[in-house]
Amino acid sequence: MKPRGSSFFWVLPKMNMLPLILLTLVLTMFSTFQFAASINVEAKNGLVNLCHAVVTLYDHVYEGDYYVINTGYDTYMMKGDHMLNGDFTIIDSIKEKTGVDISIFYQDTRVTTTIQMDNGTRAMGTKANDMVIEDVLKGRQPHFYSSTMVEGVRYFSYYEPLYTSDGACIGMIFLGKPSAEVERLVFASIRPIILFGILTMLIACFVTTRFSNKLVNAIRKTKSFLETISEGELHAQFDEDVLRRKDELGEMGHCLIDMQKSLQELVEQDILTGLYNRRSGENLLRRTYENFQKEGTPFCVAIGDIDHFKSVNDTYGHECGDIALARIAEQIKRHMQGRGFVARWGGEEMLLVYDNMQLEKAVSCMNELLEEIRCQRIAYGDSVIHVTMTFGITEGSAKKVEHIVRDADAKLYEGKNSGRNQIVYDTF
Ligand code: GH3
Ligand code: MG
Ligand code: MG
Repeated sequence: MKPRGSSFFWVLPKMNMLPLILLTLVLTMFSTFQFAASINVEAKNGLVNLCHAVVTLYDHVYEGDYYVINTGYDTYMMKGDHMLNGDFTIIDSIKEKTGVDISIFYQDTRVTTTIQMDNGTRAMGTKANDMVIEDVLKGRQPHFYSSTMVEGVRYFSYYEPLYTSDGACIGMIFLGKPSAEVERLVFASIRPIILFGILTMLIACFVTTRFSNKLVNAIRKTKSFLETISEGELHAQFDEDVLRRKDELGEMGHCLIDMQKSLQELVEQDILTGLYNRRSGENLLRRTYENFQKEGTPFCVAIGDIDHFKSVNDTYGHECGDIALARIAEQIKRHMQGRGFVARWGGEEMLLVYDNMQLEKAVSCMNELLEEIRCQRIAYGDSVIHVTMTFGITEGSAKKVEHIVRDADAKLYEGKNSGRNQIVYDTF
């Protein structure tokens, strides 16, 4: 029978893995934000410090103020005696050492820059975007941007206004690092955390699956045992590994074994004598017969009946009859141990099956039994009762089971009609 919903196998992994995946995701996101924030601060401080260093370097190398020369055709931005338009000496050497791009703007237009366009030429003459114009040129304030687009490339950038000697804002200096480089740094920092998260998840997945597998296997074995029992196979074997478990499943297994024994007693045993009842006697006989058919194992079937038992009841009462019947049954059961089995066939009649035994040996055993019964003394109050029995015995053969039993029965009646207290069988 298959589970009607999802298998219990997935419950534990779900219970363990979902919180773990969530935790790992939250942890990764949190760390990414933390690292990104701290790297932003670091990038910003780096750009600000480098910008101040560049401005100081320009002041030192090109002494004098920033100003502009307008020829009527062209406008040139100057620093002291040096024209900044197209002067790449300082910015190129700084870019080479630091990897940071630098531009100098006259108003909103680049007059010198390290930034290269797709076609390989420098991004000279390109414009600052509106936000930068608003914040830096018009607002006259330095500004850091974590994302500005310059010629199709995203930059971490810092802009600082440049002033003439009379304090007018003449342009700006730009320092920028492509965002991809900074993101690579962030990713390099969080990579160990992501790997650790994935590794933890894999280990947890492995451990949970193994544990879950063991648990579900035990549950499946218990379920299969119950299914077999519910199909009427009361002698099903319960798995030893499950019984050895020290947890609730192991305890449940022991309860099921007890339940199995109780069921076996209820269904298979006769209450008064404790012998197998007729139904289980028939089943056991059929099994012995099948064994004979398959393996050729010999067997003998006997039917025994207590002689004049009615008079025991009539003389000493039914209760005494019950006691005597139980005692004789007990005696026969003891005798049959290791030889086969005995079942109460009906009233004071018993079916005895000698397994793996030829007729001669079985008759010899039965003679011992009859002698024991003859010698048995059953005390009841002040009275002592003793009984005898008559048996008919026949050897198992290819005949139908019913016919074998009928043969034994016929021999029993032969014995009853010829004096009782004897065993009737075909001569060997
Ligand atoms: P015989 O077999 O030797 O021919 O004589 P019998 O008196 O034993 O035969 P019969 O079949 O006439 O009687 C069997 C008696 O066994 C009748 C019944 O009261 C008694 N009997 C059967 N089952 C029980 C039982 O469970 N308890 C008691 N006390 N008596 C039982
Ligand atoms: Mg009888
Ligand atoms: Mg009888």
